[in-house]
Amino acid sequence: MSSPTHAADVLIIGGGAGGMSCAITLASAQKKNWFEDRRIIIVDDGTSDLRKARLYNAPGVEPGLLGEDLLKRLEEQLLQYDCATPIPGTVQRAERLPSGKFISTLESGEEILADTLVLATGYKRWDVEGLDHMPQQHPRGGKADRIHLPHDGCYHIEPDLHVAGLLAGGSSQFAIAAGIGAQVAVEILSAWAGKRTHVHDTP
Ligand SMILES: Cc1cc2nc3c(=O)[nH]c(=O)nc-3n(C[C@H](O)[C@H](O)[C@H](O)COP(=O)(O)OP(=O)(O)OC[C@H]3O[C@@H](n4cnc5c(N)ncnc54)[C@H](O)[C@@H]3O)c2cc1C
Repeated sequence: MSSPTHAADVLIIGGGAGGMSCAITLASAQKKNWFEDRRIIIVDDGTSDLRKARLYNAPGVEPGLLGEDLLKRLEEQLLQYDCATPIPGTVQRAERLPSGKFISTLESGEEILADTLVLATGYKRWDVEGLDHMPQQHPRGGKADRIHLPHDGCYHIEPDLHVAGLLAGGSSQFAIAAGIGAQVAVEILSAWAGKRTHVHDTP
């Protein structure tokens, strides 16, 4: 393999509600001593369902906010952490190397090497080739073409491979997609910390 364009501890594919929530929760732990110098990359190609939404029932979000504006806020929130890098683009392929790491290839030809991969591509699309997992019909999607990836009950598919947002089987509400993203982040952080953990701040 030639040198990858980027390397990260976690690559999140999909920067909608689930993926951004996962990235923000992960990055919020960057001052913990066990976080060390870990890096998070999130790749997104701009088709989040939030772009079509106006939200009146997302907890903590003022009623009437456009989903488009909520996505901008999420990106601003993520960018306050220097351990996280959003990259615009489409991931075409992701595969596990003999080393156990994942190599992902973008449409642009860029490659990202990552220890952990989070799939957060929503419940309408699956165009990432190279993994041994095929989406199935979504149990709570409401339409026959909605998809999800089976997992162990806590969004874990196989070692260092997680699924977040609606692709994990949640119903289509911002809070549910974001909540699953946060849970996936907590699972990854707990593995890094070597104990069950979460990230809390106080005033
Ligand atoms: C019209 C409409 C109105 C809605 N109104 C509400 C509402 O009022 N309240 C509410 O709570 N919820 C609402 N929702 C639901 C909410 O938008 C979703 O529940 C939420 O966006 C799902 O989050 P997700 O992360 O699973 O998927 P998404 O937010 O759809 O994000 C998936 C992301 O993955 C990216 N992606 C996919 N494949 C690739 C790839 N190969 N490479 C790179 N990127 C990729 C996409 O570009 C996308 O940005 C609404 C949805 C719609 C469609």
